[in-house]
Amino acid sequence: MQTATVFNIQKFSLNDGPGIRTVVFLKGCPLRCAWCANPESQRRQPQLEWKESACVGCGACLAAAPDAAAVEYAGKRHVDVRSLRGDSDQAQAAVHACPTRALTCTGETKTVEEVLKVCLQDKPFYEDSGGGVTLSGGEALTWPDFCAELLTRLHEEGIDTCIETEAHVAPEVFQRVAPMLDHLLMDLKHVDPIRLKEHTGVDDHLMLANLRWAIERGMDVLPRTPVIPGFNDAPEDARTMAAWLREAGARRVQLLPFHNFGESKYTLLDMPYTLRGVKNLHPEDLEDYRQIYLSEGVEAFF
Ligand code: SF4
Repeated sequence: MQTATVFNIQKFSLNDGPGIRTVVFLKGCPLRCAWCANPESQRRQPQLEWKESACVGCGACLAAAPDAAAVEYAGKRHVDVRSLRGDSDQAQAAVHACPTRALTCTGETKTVEEVLKVCLQDKPFYEDSGGGVTLSGGEALTWPDFCAELLTRLHEEGIDTCIETEAHVAPEVFQRVAPMLDHLLMDLKHVDPIRLKEHTGVDDHLMLANLRWAIERGMDVLPRTPVIPGFNDAPEDARTMAAWLREAGARRVQLLPFHNFGESKYTLLDMPYTLRGVKNLHPEDLEDYRQIYLSEGVEAFF
């Protein structure tokens, strides 16, 4: 039985594929996008989180985890969340010792069977709405054996499947799992390898090769572009991405305007957030940008 680190199973989602869906979020991602709305998804292991507003500075966490480093913020001395693995005995002891739930752990090792059981609870909603289960992350494809087993089990139950992926994985991994999916929501962040590397830590050759492969095989692929100020929001960015999509055979793209909804999570994890102060984008800000795709024959929508 395969296992993976799961950090959330979200029910009744309407934005992650057709119909009503359950979204299974897996931890672990090879990218480090500055705009990531789920920074808790990046590391593969469970992680500690600390909420300043809930902490009373009692020190119970430090007493329960003698090997942890201590840090002090706003006069509250507590466990440094970066000093322990979230699934270590001492981290778990610190979490249980905290009287206010200021210290918590995100991510838990789960078997395919455990995840399937949760997904099956909403089967009637999938059937009524044309929905199903979506794998997300992080990058779900960094757990290919888990994904393959879960997708097989879901299909045995007659449940529709989808994935949200950057597809920065080896082609043999992608080509093994992708055909097991009914729908693929695939990020196209940029087609310039240097800009992509600057802003995400990886270049684009795996992502573009996998996206092209899925499109050419006639899979149900929806390319999606997060539009990020200073990264890919210039008209020239839209032109190069639209031209790439047209040439690859894609007929549509979903534009996802930048938002900073994940900002507070960076504080919980004691991670730097480099886009602090950058304004959210809205569809009305991107109408000219959208028109560039339309002029290339690619239907762009929000
Ligand atoms: S046990 Fe909880 S409330 Fe007490 S110092 Fe640690 S994090 Fe803060």
